[in-house]
Amino acid sequence: MTSYDTNNIFAKILRGEIPSKTVKETHSTLAFHDAFPKAPIHILVIPKGSYVNMAEFLNHARDEEIVDFWSTVQGVIEELKLQETGFRMISNNGTNGGQEVPHFHIHLCGGEKLGPMLPKA
Ligand code: 5GP
Repeated sequence: MTSYDTNNIFAKILRGEIPSKTVKETHSTLAFHDAFPKAPIHILVIPKGSYVNMAEFLNHARDEEIVDFWSTVQGVIEELKLQETGFRMISNNGTNGGQEVPHFHIHLCGGEKLGPMLPKA
């Protein structure tokens, strides 16, 4: 497995060292507001386990963690009524993906029309 930086910002959030605004929390998943939102609604969903990226998560997490993660994503979508008006789900992975925080996460963005998927599209 890729080495995990225990001092990344999401690890600190999970340890309670940095405050965050929780939307949903289960035994293995946390959903919280992005501190620098790029849309009126911008939620981050992370597994509590130490996974650097999506491949690490899907290849090494227990089935129960994976199911819980995606159930929590769907729970947030329903709770914030994102399905009705639409939303964008993004996961930046690695250098080309522009991943800034090396702890696997997905972004759920909505609340307005978000425009083209990529700036050059
Ligand atoms: P990435 O670029 O890795 O896909 O996304 C990292 C996200 O974490 C960014 O959208 C950024 O705004 C968010 N972020 C960075 N620092 C903090 C923080 O301290 N708290 C929260 N809630 N979000 C953060």
